[in-house]
Amino acid sequence: MARPMAGPGPRIRRERLTLEAMIRLFCRKRHHTRGALCEGCRALQEYALARLERCPFQERKPTCAKCRVHCYREPRRSQIREVMRFSGPRMLLRHPILAIGHLRDGRRPAP
Ligand SMILES: [Zn+2]
Repeated sequence: MARPMAGPGPRIRRERLTLEAMIRLFCRKRHHTRGALCEGCRALQEYALARLERCPFQERKPTCAKCRVHCYREPRRSQIREVMRFSGPRMLLRHPILAIGHLRDGRRPAP
């Protein structure tokens, strides 16, 4: 939005990696997939990445849990919450760098 030609900044790039890691982890454990996501999780990831691309806060984005804009529509909203609930606590072990980045983002005040 503010930088249409520059592509996403580091905040959004990290958020994208975090989302992908969380959905991948969820799908592998819950749906027993290997390598590729199942159909449902692939659609959810596509939706989530599209929401992120349109996030009005971009580099000033708070973590989704703290955001006052509820940009997900049902049933995607319930689906992503389930993914977060499952993968959130597991992220620190599997993707410590992403998890720590996310914790830091969560301490920033929401615009
Ligand atoms: Zn899946």
